[in-house]
Amino acid sequence: MNKKIWLSLAKMGGREREFIREAFETNWVAPLGPNVTGFEKDLEAYFDSDTHIVALSSGTAAIHLALIQLGVEHGDEVICQSFTFVASANPITYLGASPVFVDSEPDTWNMSPEHLRRAIADRIAVTGRKPKAIIPVHLYGMPANMDAILAIAEEYDIPVLEDAAEALGSIYKSQHCGTFGTFACLSFNGNKMITTSGGGALICKSREAAHKTLFYATQARDQAPHYQHSEIGYNYRMSNVSAGIGRGQMFVLDDHIAHRRSINALYRELFRNVKGISVHQEPNDDYNSNHWLTCITLDTPLNGHTPYKISKALDAENIESRPLWKPLHLQPVFEQAPFYGDGTSEHLFNRGLCLPSGPHVSEEDAIRVVEVIREVIRKD
Ligand SMILES: *Cc1c(COP(=O)(O)O)cnc(C)c1O
Repeated sequence: MNKKIWLSLAKMGGREREFIREAFETNWVAPLGPNVTGFEKDLEAYFDSDTHIVALSSGTAAIHLALIQLGVEHGDEVICQSFTFVASANPITYLGASPVFVDSEPDTWNMSPEHLRRAIADRIAVTGRKPKAIIPVHLYGMPANMDAILAIAEEYDIPVLEDAAEALGSIYKSQHCGTFGTFACLSFNGNKMITTSGGGALICKSREAAHKTLFYATQARDQAPHYQHSEIGYNYRMSNVSAGIGRGQMFVLDDHIAHRRSINALYRELFRNVKGISVHQEPNDDYNSNHWLTCITLDTPLNGHTPYKISKALDAENIESRPLWKPLHLQPVFEQAPFYGDGTSEHLFNRGLCLPSGPHVSEEDAIRVVEVIREVIRKD
């Protein structure tokens, strides 16, 4: 059997152990501790803009705490990109609010400004109230069309929460994804750009917002000599051991980004002469994706071939691939949610596939992946 080629397996840089060992030796195994603040400082330095970052137990927790601070309550509506992982929208429902899904534009695959505008106007007409927040996603690392989205958000005075879980290191118009919205979430789950084995962070615009985030993440404890609580809180803080892994990963973040970009460039080169297959790429120089995952789409109709068939052929060769995210407006759990779109994300879902892109994927691996795919579409 050929060597397994994984989609997006985490890779340690080597220094993670130092920080974890230190945590054990200094008995900082409990939550909180020097690695957590150290990791937050490292992240803030990386974003080199005026950000205040709070390390949390997951990206999902970050979205939840952002929505709380944006005042989302029972009965409210929140606009969310439909083409994304379910974690973008789940926290809306934790608050008793309802998601309103907006379709993607064909070039970035992210929130369509046109359908966003239509959605806001229609929700105001139908419910008499504005949606409380807008959640665009930088899917697969590709920056969303932030200028257009922010202009609409400003016009209606609705705050933006960026889902940058897949976009650490992605740049839009010389600015880091994650620094555009009132809040932005990051994820350090096992398969993301860097990992803490599980974790996330909330990027805040002010020290006050970061303090408030910390407050909610640590059971909302009032300042008092005893345990006193005037609000409901959560146990969402990142642990000191996890943060130690994160600090080590910061040393290899730039390498990981460079690697994924070079694998993407190689795939583009290798597929250049393959008729009927397109590699998802930046629409123009305003966009610089971290290329977390390289995605391909099959032009219709490609001799009846489907992404599923290609995926099965790859699997038989011990190569992991993955369908594109199934749009949330097509998910049974969100059947009732309003949707504004034109079929773009559904079309992508039906035609697309994610290819191995992680730090362990070598040039030879990418060449093997493309060879298998060429073989499948050659055979009828
Ligand atoms: C991974 C991911 C999340 C959630 O992050 P977790 O750390 O797994 O909770 C949210 N949104 C998107 C788009 C993601 O890919």
